Amino acid sequence: MAGEKKIPIRSCVSCRVHCEKKKLIRIVRSPDGQVRIDPTGKAPGRGAYLCGSKECTVQAIKKNKLSKALRCEVPESLKTELLNLSSEEEAAMATGNAQ
Ligand SMILES: [Zn+2]
Repeated sequence: MAGEKKIPIRSCVSCRVHCEKKKLIRIVRSPDGQVRIDPTGKAPGRGAYLCGSKECTVQAIKKNKLSKALRCEVPESLKTELLNLSSEEEAAMATGNAQ
């Protein structure tokens, strides 16, 4: 009965799947307004989470779900970084480089 650990659960901004926080990719808008990936999950600021699937990353970028969750613009460099994190092969198509 006792000894139940509290595992922080967060949901992906795209597919809304609930997952352990440490298994998600955290994107944080720090108090100084910088948006970046937070590998530690501990950076101060407003956070948004992605489950890491390529589809979700693409959708989150296309539909501006990340900017909405963070309430600010997401820089292109970060979008590229996120796509690279999820899947390099199809990221090229998603960013429109495969003409
Ligand atoms: Zn997802």
